Amino acid sequence: MRLILLGPPGAGKGTQAQRIVEKHGIPQLSTGDMLRAAVTAGTDVGKRAKAVMDAGKLVSDEIVIAIVSERIDAPDCANGFILDGFPRTLVQADATEAMLSGKGLDLSAVVEIRVDDDILADRIAGRYTCGNCGAGYHDENLKPKVEGVCDKCGSTHFKRRPDDNRETVRTRLQAYYKETSPLIGYYHCKGKLHSVDGMGEIDAVTAEIEAILARA
Ligand code: AMP
Repeated sequence: MRLILLGPPGAGKGTQAQRIVEKHGIPQLSTGDMLRAAVTAGTDVGKRAKAVMDAGKLVSDEIVIAIVSERIDAPDCANGFILDGFPRTLVQADATEAMLSGKGLDLSAVVEIRVDDDILADRIAGRYTCGNCGAGYHDENLKPKVEGVCDKCGSTHFKRRPDDNRETVRTRLQAYYKETSPLIGYYHCKGKLHSVDGMGEIDAVTAEIEAILARA
């Protein structure tokens, strides 16, 4: 299964991707995570990407396409993968198609998670992850069962993304509408697009996505 999760920042792509990983055993390829790892490691790519990411703008197509095309050749992608945060521009979407068709592969489905803009800033400003295992949490909507302790691995170290603040969210949303939202029409025309209501409970969104995957 080769799946794309589409939606603005804060729609819940990462949360839903983690659940699909657990259920279907295919990896989540998040370009945001890969770029953050490059920034932390201080690689050339990380150095070029950092300021752009901190400002909430998009990293160049050339960089992210190179990262993804290398990643999908890894053995753990043989049975499929979930693209989370990629493609984000029409150039990236065309490149995805070329990468897959070059291997004789096709996309199974593109799932758009729809949410109202006015809740995104609250969702993003409140989110954080476990510094050890990456499990996602939120100050209001998704607290750990025991305060300050990760449900999944027991770590007490949590972190917040530098770009998860109200000022940067505005720029990230603008980038989404300008560069990424045209992909909704692009995949609709290809007969690949499915939309789910991302405003409901996390479990309800998962159920909607699973119903789509069962038919894909
Ligand atoms: P995300 O974790 O998906 O919210 O991505 C965080 C940041 O990484 C974005 O605001 C961009 O600066 C950069 N980024 C992630 N994926 C892409 C992409 N496919 N194209 C361009 N920039 C990206």
